[in-house]
Amino acid sequence: MEKTSKLYAIVHGKCPHCRRGDIFTGSLYGFDIQHTNETCGHCGQRFEIEPGYFYAAMYVSYAMNVIQMITTGIATYILSGGNLDFDSLWLYVGVIFGMSFILSPFNYRYSRVILLHWLSPKISYNAYYDTP
Ligand SMILES: [Zn+2]
Repeated sequence: MEKTSKLYAIVHGKCPHCRRGDIFTGSLYGFDIQHTNETCGHCGQRFEIEPGYFYAAMYVSYAMNVIQMITTGIATYILSGGNLDFDSLWLYVGVIFGMSFILSPFNYRYSRVILLHWLSPKISYNAYYDTP
């Protein structure tokens, strides 16, 4: 039986327990606002394993945001030909905030995926459930 790789499960937002069920409803950039399922439709794993558990995902999302803002700032600097005039301040502010707005669904999703896959010792992969 073919098993699901951890990378696949992370990229596609699959359940950390069975790597089959979806953690989220809807798609990353669909018209429906994505929600987190309460339990895995495949193996029944609870995603919010204790009340307020996803509060911790805020810290992950914050760290992602900081990294993205720094990267975007550096990219803007390079692409604008090293322009650091005071007049270009709004260019930086606009690009950085535009970028974090565009990436917010991405951050919502992957901060929770990272929390569930890497920072949750209580949830581990069980190959027994990794079957269609
Ligand atoms: Zn599952």
